[in-house]
Amino acid sequence: MSPPCDGTLDLATLASYWLGELPASDSDQLEEHLFACEGCSRRLRALVSLGDGVRRLARRGAVQVVVTPSFLEAALRAGLRVREYTVPPGGRVACTVTAQDDLLVGRMRADFSGVSRLDVLVEMAGQAPGRIEDVPVRPEAGELILAQAMPAARALGRAVLRYRLVARGDGRERVLGEYTFDHTPTPS
Ligand SMILES: [Zn+2]
Repeated sequence: MSPPCDGTLDLATLASYWLGELPASDSDQLEEHLFACEGCSRRLRALVSLGDGVRRLARRGAVQVVVTPSFLEAALRAGLRVREYTVPPGGRVACTVTAQDDLLVGRMRADFSGVSRLDVLVEMAGQAPGRIEDVPVRPEAGELILAQAMPAARALGRAVLRYRLVARGDGRERVLGEYTFDHTPTPS
């Protein structure tokens, strides 16, 4: 019988362990925990099997990454704890992130038919606007899935993030939808 896990062992720590970046004493302690905790060892295996995408999201540096539906499915199947918010065009959602979440995902619904090139624009008060250019999307996808890097998401205070999906072509831009994420840090 494994002792119940309080879930505070986050994916970033597991990623550091996997990459051999933890001090030996921490690493020993973590190994002891993994030995006893089925939940965390399953998450470590998921981290390994999902490869680069999930490692990037678990670590500092990246802010957000566009992921495929199959990546999300694999993450869920592997037992990662995914918090997701689905937002229709023009929609607004109240969101948060907790210490127990492995991934934080926004699913922005849109009609991508006829779209050959797509950019994602992001705005947040007090920050320079960002733009992710030339995002891969299939016409029949019906949604764009954006995963937040967890260290950045956890560091976020009260904030309103506004995303816009913009189709580009022939020198013109067409807004497919605007999506508002009204973020509140988790009450601790
Ligand atoms: Zn555990």
